[in-house]
Amino acid sequence: MENILSQVGKKLRESDYKLTPQREEILRVLIENQDKHLSAEEILGLVKEKSPEIGLATVYRTLEILYSLGLVHCMDFGDGRKRYEFELLESKSHQHHHLICLNCGKIEEIEEDLLEELEREVYKNKGFVVTNHQLKIYGFCRNCAPKKEGEI
Ligand SMILES: [Zn+2]
Ligand SMILES: [Zn+2]
Ligand SMILES: [Zn+2]
Repeated sequence: MENILSQVGKKLRESDYKLTPQREEILRVLIENQDKHLSAEEILGLVKEKSPEIGLATVYRTLEILYSLGLVHCMDFGDGRKRYEFELLESKSHQHHHLICLNCGKIEEIEEDLLEELEREVYKNKGFVVTNHQLKIYGFCRNCAPKKEGEI
């Protein structure tokens, strides 16, 4: 954690931002909940447990800065809320994919890229170099999927 924070602090300073104590609190929440896809309101709720003085405007401003530095992903899973996810991106890594359950709203992640072939074809046919992508796959999770006949 401290290691990640110091890396982020360095990135911020390189772009003339400071890692203020408030920003650090917000970052801790983001890092601790990396796979939870929190909205700004949810982040605020968690941050307030330790630092009640922090307001929504500070959360938004911090997310904006982190987003501009490529340290958070911002996603919309169709429920009208932007959701944020911290990721200390290596220059070449692509974002993981998301599986969104249409029944219970659960969001799962697929770590494998699996799009290498598509990326190659796109480059071959269009000359377009893929550097990243956001893939949202809709359907029903293990608990919600209707059991197919004949399946145990
Ligand atoms: Zn995710
Ligand atoms: Zn990819
Ligand atoms: Zn479900």
